[in-house]
Amino acid sequence: MRRLTHFIDGMYQEGTSTRAANVYNPATGEIASTVTLGTKADLDVAVTSAAKAFLEWKETSLSKRSQVMFAFRDLLERRVKDVAKLITNEHGKVLSDAEGEVRRGLEVVEFACGVPHLLKGDMSDSVSRSIDTYSIRQPLGVVAGITPFNFPAMVPMWMFPIAIACGNTFVLKPSEKDPSASLMLAEMMIDAGLPRGVLNVVHGDKEIVDGILESKEIKAVSFVGSTAIARYIYSQAAAHGKRVQALGGAKNHMVVAKDADLNFAADAAVSAAYGSAGERCMAISVVVVDEAVADDFVELVAKKTRQLRVGPGTQESSEMGPLVTMEHRDRVASYIETASTQGARVVIDGRESIDMHTKGFFLGPSLVDAVSIDMSVYRDEIFGPVLSIVRVKGFDEAVELVNTNSYANGAALFTRSGALARKFKREIDAGMVGINVPIPVPVAYYSFGGNKDSLFGGSHMYGTDGVSFFTRLKAVTERWPEPNVGDVQGRDLNFPGTR
Ligand code: NAD
Repeated sequence: MRRLTHFIDGMYQEGTSTRAANVYNPATGEIASTVTLGTKADLDVAVTSAAKAFLEWKETSLSKRSQVMFAFRDLLERRVKDVAKLITNEHGKVLSDAEGEVRRGLEVVEFACGVPHLLKGDMSDSVSRSIDTYSIRQPLGVVAGITPFNFPAMVPMWMFPIAIACGNTFVLKPSEKDPSASLMLAEMMIDAGLPRGVLNVVHGDKEIVDGILESKEIKAVSFVGSTAIARYIYSQAAAHGKRVQALGGAKNHMVVAKDADLNFAADAAVSAAYGSAGERCMAISVVVVDEAVADDFVELVAKKTRQLRVGPGTQESSEMGPLVTMEHRDRVASYIETASTQGARVVIDGRESIDMHTKGFFLGPSLVDAVSIDMSVYRDEIFGPVLSIVRVKGFDEAVELVNTNSYANGAALFTRSGALARKFKREIDAGMVGINVPIPVPVAYYSFGGNKDSLFGGSHMYGTDGVSFFTRLKAVTERWPEPNVGDVQGRDLNFPGTR
């Protein structure tokens, strides 16, 4: 059985731990490999390597840093399918979807290639007599990323390309459920010319995470995962004086107005609810539909859902793969049962369309109608292929319902009305809004993040927010007096003015 080990200082290192976790192939249910669950001593080795590498990397010219990113981009472009294969084998999502995730990560790498431009400061000539002021952005030092299972390549690439291009060195703690993609990316960064120690991958669970939070050397923590852990990361990192951004869970709503193109909206709902088996932080898990068109809409969604082909991610005909673990699959399935007992109408029961006794972690897509906001199928983040339908009396009720939810990652509206769309995007409480777009993940030159329980901390991820997060801004006020032109003043104890 292959044991996946840490990648520290440019090489694989076993570390000191005797603990390991199983990594499954969700399509077969078999254990594909094991991954070491590191100790704080292992983390120390990585942090020491990163701290040493920082001394040189922060002095490396912007163009050299940018060249490494360009080289990484080219290597990754050539190996998109290889990374996608690793993702499918450990996560379960279908290959085309895994490729899509790598490409969205690649966009962030491309953005990071422009780091010489991104780090340009501002400059004001003559803010006072013979005095100029300008700003510079400097790296923080060693920074860390802690990432979830659902995007094993894209989410690490939301973080490390920008952090590293900005001159920091990085310790990545990927999800222990699908750690291989991170290792391949780290190897490729070395092949692209990144010095050893600038990017390290340390595997583990709470022990490593707590080590990261407590480390005096680590200056910032970027986290993506469930809300409960995000809250913990945010409070602990702040308590240890670190800069922190912690993105949490989601319950994304799609509002269907009565004037919407119902067929178009139904296709969007099915794609966004069941793609990647619903294991996306931007998946649509609730459709809020105007009761005037609800019967027609639900009928369309049900018809399209029944047509979905579920199977192993490596099989070209599959549109939806298995869930990540058996435990998670069973937890998701339990919501279908609970929804029924709590009075919802189960239109499609995913347990019936699938042989639940196969070894793979499959669950068919499920559709639950007549859901109300007190039901657990509505309240909890399920993170699986279960779509809830909530019926409302008109647009205002829909907006109020969405805004009452504790999560606020993404929200979408389907309508033909520009006026309604404008009202929606202004009034809705969500970090990312789609108008006739169900999964509005911003492109790399914007930034990603939600509100309320979906994000703790003031900074969104990647884009210009990412550059701000991974750099410290310094303002310099500078004077080179020329005595002969009267620039030198005598003693003056007053607070300096600018006039
Ligand atoms: P998770 O919170 O279980 O794990 C995330 C990371 O935290 C992993 O690296 C894991 O090893 C670590 N971790 C787990 N338990 C821990 C503990 N007790 N103490 C310290 N660290 C711990 O999340 P997951 O199941 O891997 O991923 C799914 C979740 O991530 C969903 O809630 C999803 O909405 C969220 N997510 C959010 C976004 C976003 O952008 N907001 C993006 C992707 C995923």
